[in-house]
Amino acid sequence: MKQSKLLLFSILFSICPYVNFGQELAEQVTTFVSVKETIVAIKNVTIIDGTGGDVKYNQDILLRNNKIASIVKTGTKNYPNSTKIIDGTGKTVIPGLIMLHEHLFHAKPFEGNFKATHMTNTFPQLYLAGGVTTMRTAGSIEANTDLNIKNLIDQGKMVGPSMDVSTPHVERLGFVPQLQSLYGDESIENWLNYWFDKGITSVKVYNNISKDDLREIIKFSHAKNIKVTGHLCSITYREAAELGIDNLEHSFMASTDFVGNKKENECVFGEPSLAGLNDNDPKLIALMQLLIDKNVTLTYTPNVFEPFTNREVIPGGGSVALAPYLLEQMQTFYQQQINSKRDSLGLISFKKEMKRVKKFHAMGGKITVGTDPTGTGKTIAGYSNQRLIELLIETGFGIEEAIKLSTLNGATYLGIASKTGTIEVGKEADLVLLLGDLSKDVSNIRNMEIVFKNGIGFDSKKIFDSVKGKVGLH
Ligand SMILES: [Zn+2]
Repeated sequence: MKQSKLLLFSILFSICPYVNFGQELAEQVTTFVSVKETIVAIKNVTIIDGTGGDVKYNQDILLRNNKIASIVKTGTKNYPNSTKIIDGTGKTVIPGLIMLHEHLFHAKPFEGNFKATHMTNTFPQLYLAGGVTTMRTAGSIEANTDLNIKNLIDQGKMVGPSMDVSTPHVERLGFVPQLQSLYGDESIENWLNYWFDKGITSVKVYNNISKDDLREIIKFSHAKNIKVTGHLCSITYREAAELGIDNLEHSFMASTDFVGNKKENECVFGEPSLAGLNDNDPKLIALMQLLIDKNVTLTYTPNVFEPFTNREVIPGGGSVALAPYLLEQMQTFYQQQINSKRDSLGLISFKKEMKRVKKFHAMGGKITVGTDPTGTGKTIAGYSNQRLIELLIETGFGIEEAIKLSTLNGATYLGIASKTGTIEVGKEADLVLLLGDLSKDVSNIRNMEIVFKNGIGFDSKKIFDSVKGKVGLH
């Protein structure tokens, strides 16, 4: 498998009579619910609220119905007997994670190419178990399946986060057979409207489209108030920003802006040009400023670029989730890769990208995050989302900013920040209770206890346990 390819590739139900906040939940959902009371107080807990503000200690959070009703210093408020009390001593609360580059498929390497296998059953559950209460898919292999999953989750028939479902990757003939979605002279407007009518709420464009394609895609999407994001190659970041794109995936890693003699509309491998680019190169700074001026958000996806050397085989502890035969393949692959020339180059570019992202952030650039569970198949939903918080700390962000990037920033981009994304009075009770003080040790992100989605508390460990050994199969 070539590095270039690695870089480029990036559910029947019985309803039981269980009603929560006006929503009926099916038995296969209620089995994972650990907190269903309508008035809940989490007492004496540490809060990282998603605003980027300082960590707050010894706090009580009161949830009433599906909303955050109050946040006060512990000991200053009494709760009626009907309140379900959760002792938060030694625990931390963060907002539910909002992740913008997710997929409901798992990538299996095959003889130098990829096969994406839909994880209809496991991935939605894993995302929620990993603290994700809202996610955007950034490209679909089975867009209809993704839409059905979204609707079943919304109807209380499946376990999973709220979803913003994107189109299939809008692509002309590339190297991944499952991705090709535009042919010849078909009408882009009709193609988009077909998906918009079905309930698709984001557009994802891919490596091999033309500037003319992108111009039309942006025009017809914006006419319906739908945002466009892209994992680009044939089109440079500068060109896309000037055409009005909203969001670029993989931060700077998919930029072909610095490739010498790049022909218009031609997809060329950009990584060597990035490897040779100084962090303070005026051309890079000018591009960053243009993206800021044009209000383009970058999605940072460090998981999919994480090298092998000195890392877990499946980062984030996800090896327990993988089907045993796939784990065996990954272990063999890991041994082949560590200390290989390719992996050492990967490590250098991984570190360089961290510096670029930090700089863009310091200049005022908008950043959202996501995990992109593709690549070689070692990025596993849920585990990877937790791992991402650790990678943000490795990038150099403080814990408050790392949580903000993973919560409020995603909500702001999706236009839902007035109802979710931070721990503030009046917002929906989307929050995660985890064991330990996250501000002291980021690895506590792996110790999630309860994931509240819209006021309903799910048992994170029980969900993780239920799908062990099944990823890659279901
Ligand atoms: Zn992706």
